[in-house]
Amino acid sequence: MSFSALGLSESIVRAVSEHGYTAPTPIQLQAIPAVLNGGDLLAGAQTGTGKTAGFVLPILQRLTTLKPGAKPVEGKRKVRVLVLTPTRELAAQVEESVRTYGKYTGLKSTVVYGGVGINPQISTLRQGVDILVATPGRLLDHHQQRTVDLSQVEILVLDEADRMLDMGFIHDIKKVLAVLPKQRQNLLFSATFSDDIKKLADSLLDNPALIEVARRNSTVEMIQQKVHPVDREKKRELLTHLIKENNWHQVLVFTRTKHGANRLAEQLNKSNITALVIHGNKSQAARTKALAEFKKGDLQVLVATDIAARGIDIDQLPHVVNFEIPNVPEDYVHRIGRTGRAGASGEAISLVCVDEIKMFHDIERLIKREVESVVIPGFEPDPNAKAQPILLRSPDHQGRGRSGAGRGGQGRGEPGQKQRQGGRGKPDQRVGGARSSTGTSHNTSANPKSGVNTKDGSVGGGRSAPRAAQKSTPALAPATTRTTPALFRKSGRDR
Ligand code: AMP
Repeated sequence: MSFSALGLSESIVRAVSEHGYTAPTPIQLQAIPAVLNGGDLLAGAQTGTGKTAGFVLPILQRLTTLKPGAKPVEGKRKVRVLVLTPTRELAAQVEESVRTYGKYTGLKSTVVYGGVGINPQISTLRQGVDILVATPGRLLDHHQQRTVDLSQVEILVLDEADRMLDMGFIHDIKKVLAVLPKQRQNLLFSATFSDDIKKLADSLLDNPALIEVARRNSTVEMIQQKVHPVDREKKRELLTHLIKENNWHQVLVFTRTKHGANRLAEQLNKSNITALVIHGNKSQAARTKALAEFKKGDLQVLVATDIAARGIDIDQLPHVVNFEIPNVPEDYVHRIGRTGRAGASGEAISLVCVDEIKMFHDIERLIKREVESVVIPGFEPDPNAKAQPILLRSPDHQGRGRSGAGRGGQGRGEPGQKQRQGGRGKPDQRVGGARSSTGTSHNTSANPKSGVNTKDGSVGGGRSAPRAAQKSTPALAPATTRTTPALFRKSGRDR
């Protein structure tokens, strides 16, 4: 099936063809007709499936098609489409897609997010835009300053809604919903379906079309996954070895904490491997620069924490390395989804030390497959090593989980800080991988009384500090007691 057979106009088809797309991806095949229909949509789409075009293309089509009998709108453009995303990077990425796909439509778009000056955003908004992509906090800032008018929004998109809830944005989302017109089309995209997402969907969507393109929480088939068991202290050396031995030029490396990311990048640079860091304590300018250099191929390694990496879309990113295993299993799916995008093959390597074995088993349970384990000669783990508690947050983390960042977007803490494993309970309630796949622990967002009364927009609620901000001592995951798990018993040669 071609894009034009899906009902998209020549100007849109021309733009996507020029961009190199020859055929719609599975999510696009389903989402485009559903959005063109005008009804609400609930889409379970993994990262890298082409979901952005899945909603952007039909939205462009809808905005450029006049309703029967309607007159062309005159005067200043009004925001007719609002796309909310969890991170600044994703917001920028989505808006770039809007520009790319919409270049022949004459529609105008812009993006607003925190961490950068608000004034240029104000002047762009003042000139009038049709499509606004935003992170929730900065959007609310604009709303409070009356620099954005949301009264004409016809279509609302919540992109990566699961991550928005994970980041504690539910109150901001509710505030935004409260100021939107009741009559509108709502599109909700989420990679995973926790109970919180279902609750949000129930209250937001009216008889939605349901689309799910990949098995829930499954990992992208094209990604080769591998575990290298290794001692805790040898991880950095092993990473350096892998990069140098295999001549890797573009590697996205994940750590659990911002502190860990900084330290690792420093050490890599000392080993003559060019590395920069992207996380919530970095200024937006530093993050944008690091990402741009990495995308261009000028930088060998980008070290990232989970939230900062959301929205990173790099064509043909060949390698993702989990230097540290995420304590929330779903993050593994998000992390490795940075490679193997839109049909390209990719490799995801996890360096697992004895402390992380249980976490990795939780991941394997989630993705419903056992990941091949390969011991690298010279890096055989000590079979008698005892597991130690895992640091889930940077020890330097104090107060709010960001520095100098404006509201909205990234910078509201890091995943390990977000107490996603059971709220503000004792450390032993917050340990590695303890969140069930139904994600019942988003205690801020899961308050049933707060409901998301979205169509009538009646729900308010104060902006609560993110859970990350409410703790200042490092969170520790207890050690797993197993010392010789299957993961460590298997061995083989690296390919
Ligand atoms: P997304 O899941 O929206 O982040 O898209 C993942 C990647 O797929 C991006 O690099 C897109 O440019 C690419 N992409 C989206 N749609 C298509 C398509 N129909 N054909 C080829 N690549 C696509």
